[in-house]
Amino acid sequence: MDAIQILRQLKEKGVRFTPQRQAILEYLLGTDTHPTAEEIYQHVRAKFPGVSLGTIYNTLNMLKEHGYILELSYGDMSSRFDGHAKNHYHVVCSECSKVVDFHRPLLQLEQEAEQKTDFQISGHRLEFYGICPECRKKRILIKQAD
Ligand code: ZN
Ligand code: MN
Repeated sequence: MDAIQILRQLKEKGVRFTPQRQAILEYLLGTDTHPTAEEIYQHVRAKFPGVSLGTIYNTLNMLKEHGYILELSYGDMSSRFDGHAKNHYHVVCSECSKVVDFHRPLLQLEQEAEQKTDFQISGHRLEFYGICPECRKKRILIKQAD
């Protein structure tokens, strides 16, 4: 879904949209870096210097409540936001906390879970952890310097 369609749907639900809020939505839909609220703020502020961090948080919460974006929380680290709310998975770097998308349909796994547990499965969460290519390169360089 693109920004225009989301704006139209939200307007029908009575949600007001300022140009700042639209910029937040457009930025999230156009990136796959899973930015933090602070990063979104820095980005939107370049175009709208008057925008507040409060507006960023309000807009993110509203978009999340309506199911258009995902909030990815990682313990005591800042939450990251994802403009792609459709089922996909994340691979998280345990050194630099980068979050990368991993697309693979796992409907078969849900069916298997249903068969084995007799639950009616409505969804699932799955996350991978590891060390990203950049951090791996850094590790090798540090080892070589020793
Ligand atoms: Zn990394
Ligand atoms: Mn993602």
